Amino acid sequence: MKKSLQHLETIAIHAGMSDEQPPNSGIVPPLEPSTIFEHRPEGWKEGDWNYTRYSNPNRNQLEQVLAALEGGAEAVTFSSGVAAIGAVFQALPKGAHVLYPEDVYMGTRTLIREYADRWELSFDAVDMTDLDAVEDATQPHTALLWLETPSNPLLHITDVKAITDIAKGKNIAVCADSTWPTPYNLRPLELGADLVMHSTTKYFSGHSDILGGVVTGPPDSEWIARIRTIQQIQGAVPSPRDCWLLTRSIRTFPYRMRAHNEHAQRIAEFLDDHKQVEQVFYPGLSSHKGHEIAKNQMNGFGGMISFLIHGDAERALQVVAQSKLILRATSLGGVESTWEHRKTSEGETSQTPDNLIRLSVGLEHPDDLIQDLREALN
Ligand code: PLP
Repeated sequence: MKKSLQHLETIAIHAGMSDEQPPNSGIVPPLEPSTIFEHRPEGWKEGDWNYTRYSNPNRNQLEQVLAALEGGAEAVTFSSGVAAIGAVFQALPKGAHVLYPEDVYMGTRTLIREYADRWELSFDAVDMTDLDAVEDATQPHTALLWLETPSNPLLHITDVKAITDIAKGKNIAVCADSTWPTPYNLRPLELGADLVMHSTTKYFSGHSDILGGVVTGPPDSEWIARIRTIQQIQGAVPSPRDCWLLTRSIRTFPYRMRAHNEHAQRIAEFLDDHKQVEQVFYPGLSSHKGHEIAKNQMNGFGGMISFLIHGDAERALQVVAQSKLILRATSLGGVESTWEHRKTSEGETSQTPDNLIRLSVGLEHPDDLIQDLREALN
């Protein structure tokens, strides 16, 4: 009997699992560490396993789960989120032009700075929240619009449907880096995007112990075919163990996201009322500039909050050093809450305000987190 995979919670647990297992099998899929697979006596056949850089049972299963969660047909996984971003850019034709958001993730900015010339691509940053600016910035050879909503670290909200409408009229592809919202909160393919990319290191992993990335696209996507070739030939693939572990972590992903959303909303409201806090960036607050768009296109507002503290960088660093529960660390999406003075992590080229603290709200009890924040801020 085919399993009914309609809701994310069910997909996360059952997608990629075979419907017909031999009797008395384990209910957890085995880890396949072998890098090579024995050929049949008559020779290797199309569809057989061969060499793990090309495909592996654990990677296949992970890709099926990720594609099903995204509502896409095919997912291509990588050994990191940045490797996945690089694969999308390298899938562009020589000479192509790309528009990306001004407040783009620092690692994407670094890739662009270091490799645009070598890859013979040109890039322009644009305010993706301003549709006229996006329209004006497109050029005849623009091939890709790169989106990030909410953006990292300022949580700008881009209207995905409006952007994909602009792109379609001009034959431009759209790829959303959806690491922060995840498919629990945002469905870019349903809003017209051609590709969705994630760092699976964050909410899919959820336990700060796996590095990975993925690009997902609809059926028969030429983009996905090119990205698959890059995965297999360049070889930045996740290990079977990481695929196995990530598939396991994903089984609780929708329930973790639900709690991340709930806790972050409560904490954003607490911070918004605190006299030491100058401004809170969280799309779940009605005061947020992108709140109405976020409400329309998202199922929840996510677990990330940025806020400005009254004072300078030194004061922000002092506050971050005071927490007893929230850990001082970069990255995001783990069960444990973490925070950081973002500019210090981004380094010299950072455009982030000096007094910005970025908080990844975890799954501890929100009352305990609020108590920790109250003590750190005071
Ligand atoms: N995209 C976003 C929005 C991120 O926040 C990150 C990492 O923080 C990445 C991509 C890169 O992912 P990874 O660190 O897995 O390479």
